[in-house]
Amino acid sequence: MTDKTITRRELIATTAKVAAVAATVGPAVAQTAKPAGTLVRPVAVSSMNGLAAVKVAVEKMAAGVPPVDAAVAGVALPEADPDDVTVGYGGLPNEEGVVQLDAAVMDGGTMRAGAVAALERIKHPAQVALDVMRRTNRVLLVGEGALRFARTHGFVEENLLTDRSRKIWLYWKENASQRDDWLPDPREVDDPDIQWFIKKYGDAILRPSGTIHLSACGPGGQLGCCTTTSGLAFKIPGRVGDSPLIGCGLYCDGEVGSAGGTGHGESNIVSVGAHTVVEFMRQGKTPEAACLAALERVVRNTKLDYLRDEKGRPKNNLLLYAVSHAGEVGSAAIWSGERVKYAMCRAGSEPQLLDSAYLFHRDKA
Ligand code: ASP
Repeated sequence: MTDKTITRRELIATTAKVAAVAATVGPAVAQTAKPAGTLVRPVAVSSMNGLAAVKVAVEKMAAGVPPVDAAVAGVALPEADPDDVTVGYGGLPNEEGVVQLDAAVMDGGTMRAGAVAALERIKHPAQVALDVMRRTNRVLLVGEGALRFARTHGFVEENLLTDRSRKIWLYWKENASQRDDWLPDPREVDDPDIQWFIKKYGDAILRPSGTIHLSACGPGGQLGCCTTTSGLAFKIPGRVGDSPLIGCGLYCDGEVGSAGGTGHGESNIVSVGAHTVVEFMRQGKTPEAACLAALERVVRNTKLDYLRDEKGRPKNNLLLYAVSHAGEVGSAAIWSGERVKYAMCRAGSEPQLLDSAYLFHRDKA
């Protein structure tokens, strides 16, 4: 069956079938929500690069810090970490070698939100987003305006491009095309920074997925969340992904739950992923079931041939994470894989990495 011949009805049927299979096999979906009464709060969930971040967020909430501030405190770790090349300092730059960051926060109690996009030279964009939420009556500032706002609020400008990220960018640029003026240097492959990158992300993908989303649920079920990223690696300058868009990269409703996503941003934008997850939780689904249902919609909404494989399934992966008001947690992805996990921490316990549920099984190449 080719992309062109698969019908929408068949695709839905395929998706439902695979989802049903995913719901019955494998450890990825074995985790079921416990009854609300036994759930310990505070609790935080995040993308798998947030193992340390969820611990910080839970400690902060246990000490009385509101969930949205706790989430921002947690994600400050990967934002400052040059070894996370998908967030903040050391994030992979745009196609011109300039690091442009996107971040957003949302507070479920007040339903206020703040965001910045294409922000340059500021290491902690999530903290700037928090100031946008608290110190303006607006939601989203971009580019030069966001930088001026950050300066006004005392954020210090710095060069965010580490030598490692610069080398990875150059390696991508030199290998991207045989027709431009850039020639790859054979010695580059042996460079320790390029080796580090290939070991971490594989040599097939020169544009790794990353980003951190963190959803936090306080001791009384208060909710807040944050998503922060350097965005799609080597993007068109000015490109903004799902991460700073309220409803897409993150959303929370103080009476229902909190959710967010990482992965292919454009797919998440057109299906308004995080808001969709929260709406499914509102209808009574567990966080995991809500994430799966939202991803089924993403699959149905992926109609362009260049985004689909030969069976009509999305080529790109998208991961969603959620916590309910009661403290249940869950996560799901379109595709299975080694990096399809999420971080979770509850008060009184150590943070752990859990398998995310998924719709389609990806055989290892
Ligand atoms: N969702 C991010 C974006 O599209 C990238 C990622 O999570 O990998 O900017």
